[in-house]
Amino acid sequence: MTIKVPKATCLLCKSKYTGTGMTKHLQSCLPKNLENQRKQQKFKSQPFFHILVKGFYSPGYWLHLKVSSNSKLEELDQFLRDIWLECCGHLSAFSYRRNELKMGRKLKDVLSIRMELLYEYDFGSTTELLVKVLAEYDGPIEQNKPVEILARNEAPEIPCDECGKAPAVQICTECQWSGSGWLCETCAKNHECGGEMMLPVVNSPRTGVCGYTG
Ligand SMILES: [Zn+2]
Ligand SMILES: [Zn+2]
Ligand SMILES: [Zn+2]
Ligand SMILES: [Zn+2]
Repeated sequence: MTIKVPKATCLLCKSKYTGTGMTKHLQSCLPKNLENQRKQQKFKSQPFFHILVKGFYSPGYWLHLKVSSNSKLEELDQFLRDIWLECCGHLSAFSYRRNELKMGRKLKDVLSIRMELLYEYDFGSTTELLVKVLAEYDGPIEQNKPVEILARNEAPEIPCDECGKAPAVQICTECQWSGSGWLCETCAKNHECGGEMMLPVVNSPRTGVCGYTG
């Protein structure tokens, strides 16, 4: 059994693609979609960034986001915590070429197209994300919704380290560093380290880290 990566869905048009295919697809789907929305004139047009966020060491976890250029870094920070990271209120930071960016700064004042930022959550058991600015557009933005998801990876199916037959659902935080911590339902029950060492497998680059349970 090998790692299975199901195709993800573009939330604008519902077509399905894998990681790099989705990046390509959104570069044409997003402007097309804006054109249609403009005709309906539902919301006021505002500048926004098309941003790709992915796990620095686990690029299989990714998010394509539409983020208002007028929003602050702290709003993106909060969004990433909510969807992927928050376990016990650790510190986090965005940085560009090793310079930390203040959370209160607006995206439009710090970002430009093709820029790549590093985002770190928790300076102990750090989860590092790559934040890539793909494009900037003008388009309708829903009020009070500075960050919208355009597409998100589907949870990869990772085989159990013990039996190799069923997909892993629990991670033993003791054994994962020796390559035998990802366990299926059955193997998790019989695992010697006990239940308190276990964390659930979740669709996030922070799966199995600290106390993260999704
Ligand atoms: Zn699409
Ligand atoms: Zn924690
Ligand atoms: Zn198993
Ligand atoms: Zn164990």
